[in-house]
Amino acid sequence: MPNADTHRRGPAGADEQASPKVLVVEDEKVLADGIARGLDKEGFDVEVVHDGLAGLARGRSEDFDAIVLDIMLPGMNGYRICRNLREEGVTTPILMLTAKSGEYDEAEALDTGADDFLSKPFSFVVLVARLHALLRRSADGMAQPMVVGDLVLDPLPRTCRRGDVQIDLTTREYELLEALMRHPGVTVSKQELLEKVWGADFDGDPNVVEVYIGYLRRKIDRPFEHRDIETVRGVGYRMGVPYDRSAG
Ligand code: CA
Repeated sequence: MPNADTHRRGPAGADEQASPKVLVVEDEKVLADGIARGLDKEGFDVEVVHDGLAGLARGRSEDFDAIVLDIMLPGMNGYRICRNLREEGVTTPILMLTAKSGEYDEAEALDTGADDFLSKPFSFVVLVARLHALLRRSADGMAQPMVVGDLVLDPLPRTCRRGDVQIDLTTREYELLEALMRHPGVTVSKQELLEKVWGADFDGDPNVVEVYIGYLRRKIDRPFEHRDIETVRGVGYRMGVPYDRSAG
């Protein structure tokens, strides 16, 4: 199939033609620039940061479809960044650049929650191929329905149901619920929700989050006598883990 279309359908609502966004965390500037230029030519939308703390901060934003992460970095090393992101519920695919081809490095990279690794020096063609593979796997994962108890949020038709009951959500409500259901049991701060659902440049009243949480509760929880959306006082909100409910 010479014309095989390598573009896969992303999550519903995503523009199929949109460039995949890749964060490159690499302190060797010449290498970082080389990677950025190369990926840009391949149609990726690339952002580069040169130190670990910036890498962690940008990774947390979940603005990216994939992260290329060096290990030895000023500020915070790649293992710690990866572990922190995973502990915070960030599932963005991570390709780690290991300095040596020792098995120890690779095992540790995977152990911290990286999805793949590449030993330096690497061929650019291989980097691109690995990134495409990660993005394909991720798109398949993102397309899977999110399930918390009998509440199901399905990204492809972008529908919500509780048991057999279909629930109509507005776009904002859907995105807010998705932000919570992607990581059940993980507290998501109001600030993160604002950035994910209303955008990083939103400068309106941050209480809009509470207002919309209220709308959601009236649709997905109250009519069914559930309390799945939990308020974590002073922090944000969390989707309850299902086994809590069946117990009580
Ligand atoms: Ca380095």
